[in-house]
Amino acid sequence: MPSLCKGDLAARSYACAVKGPLYHKRPLFCSELKGERAMDKILDILLLLDPAMEALLSERGIGEDDIRPVVLHAEGNGVYLEHGNGHRLACFTPAHVTFWVEYLPKGNGYRIFRAYTHRMKILQGFNMASGKESPPIGWSCSPCGLPLELAAVKLTYLGETFVVDLPACPSCQRVLVSEENAVTRMALAEQMLEDK
Ligand SMILES: [Zn+2]
Repeated sequence: MPSLCKGDLAARSYACAVKGPLYHKRPLFCSELKGERAMDKILDILLLLDPAMEALLSERGIGEDDIRPVVLHAEGNGVYLEHGNGHRLACFTPAHVTFWVEYLPKGNGYRIFRAYTHRMKILQGFNMASGKESPPIGWSCSPCGLPLELAAVKLTYLGETFVVDLPACPSCQRVLVSEENAVTRMALAEQMLEDK
């Protein structure tokens, strides 16, 4: 069994900068990410990546075409997590992999600070109270306007279910998976389950 135990997945908050305008004014739904019109919108999104970030994404097998739908989905629906200093964090699961992107609107584009993935699935809507006192997370749920708090969140992968403490919105239960959790603990657990 993987050693993903409750309380093991503590989240971190990140350094941030300034707020920017919404790229899309109208709500955009997942189904609209398909088709030619949506493809034009996706290609319209200008990503600002420094060379170190480009190298890291290449190492992780994440392309700009994986990042753009995350940003489009988040900005189109106004659904993202927001840090006190303006960074936005959003996820999108087009198929079996969940892509997370931390970004900041900048001029006509989006500066990318982090992008990472996990294959483990978050069971949305099944959060329970965490037995732990929640430290300040630093991120809030943009649609609900509420700061995230630690919650006992259910994750599932290859038939196994885990309960881990992760930051989540106390109202809509939107969960935050940090880069640290995704690339270390979750990746390890996924690998162990795949090797079983
Ligand atoms: Zn919420």
